[in-house]
Amino acid sequence: MSAFVGKYADELIRTAKYIATPGKGILAADESTGTIGKRLSSINVENTEPNRQALRELLFTTFDALPSISGVILFEETLYQKTSAGKPFVDVLADNKVIPGIKVDKGIVELAGTNGETTTQGFDSLGARCLQYYKAGARFAKWRAVLKIGPTEPSELAIQQNAQGLARYAIICQENGLVPIVEPEILTDGNHDIKKCAAVTETVLAAVYKALNDHHVLLEGTLLKPNMVTPGSDSPKVAPAVVAEYTVGALRRTVPPAVPGIVFLSGGQSEEDATLNLNAMNKLGVLKPWTLSFSFGRALQQSTIKKWSGKKENVPSAQAAFLARCKANSEATLGKYAGCAADAAASESLYVKDYKY
Ligand code: 13P
Repeated sequence: MSAFVGKYADELIRTAKYIATPGKGILAADESTGTIGKRLSSINVENTEPNRQALRELLFTTFDALPSISGVILFEETLYQKTSAGKPFVDVLADNKVIPGIKVDKGIVELAGTNGETTTQGFDSLGARCLQYYKAGARFAKWRAVLKIGPTEPSELAIQQNAQGLARYAIICQENGLVPIVEPEILTDGNHDIKKCAAVTETVLAAVYKALNDHHVLLEGTLLKPNMVTPGSDSPKVAPAVVAEYTVGALRRTVPPAVPGIVFLSGGQSEEDATLNLNAMNKLGVLKPWTLSFSFGRALQQSTIKKWSGKKENVPSAQAAFLARCKANSEATLGKYAGCAADAAASESLYVKDYKY
């Protein structure tokens, strides 16, 4: 049977297409309260609601950066927060043509009997939550599935569980008017080479698109958020042109042209590496039927958070850092980034072993 076409079909297609506008990408600002706490503690700032609000306000009111952004993924708390002047964040974003999105998963749990492999939880009352989030202004959602590369990983069980989970989440979102971002993240941990990462990425994506089809998901109203294809974190790095060739190759073999956009996670790469790799992909002279863009968390915020350090007087310089990264990534979606936005902070690796978002 073909794709489910519910009452939101036209809107889903419009939303997904807009988010995939060339020159724009997604800011992933959906760190859970625990994860944002780690970011804040790295600059000696306490993990309180006002401090989380201040960081998010800093990002969302960098108005010169917003033309480079088509969507922002929020954590539930942030969806209902306001600026210090009392304007809801969702209105600030919508007034600047930035679509609010929402993280709907509830993190990962171990699959018993595996070597530390995981599945994602969050199905309880997912439909009702999506309906509520739509009412609050969200128009797209994110669900992160995590796979790892090892001697016998990812196992068939992990691949199938995570593919089924992503597909079930995706169709529940579509029934409730939210464009699902389908995120099967293959972690970079390990000493494998780039060929191994490419092979695993192809296998996982093939399973994900089979599951999306089985669940009648309308691909035109979805976005894919994959890892870039790179060597493992314990192996030597390769040039952006090589990452581009392997990544685009894996995607061309598995992602149907009906999908409007592919928005990469940064996965612990430095800000500058993530931008250079995205730029190289967009420069590659092969047929790419989807927009290739960004949905970066760490690679959009790291130098900004450092510059801010929780101090009001640092807000302008922190916003300048955020603007520089947004512009650089916007150019990279067009293959036009000349590599001049990097300073020392932007070139720092953001890799954390066994990263939990
Ligand atoms: P990173 O870009 O920091 O990997 O995170 C993006 C994200 O939203 C992961 O789910």
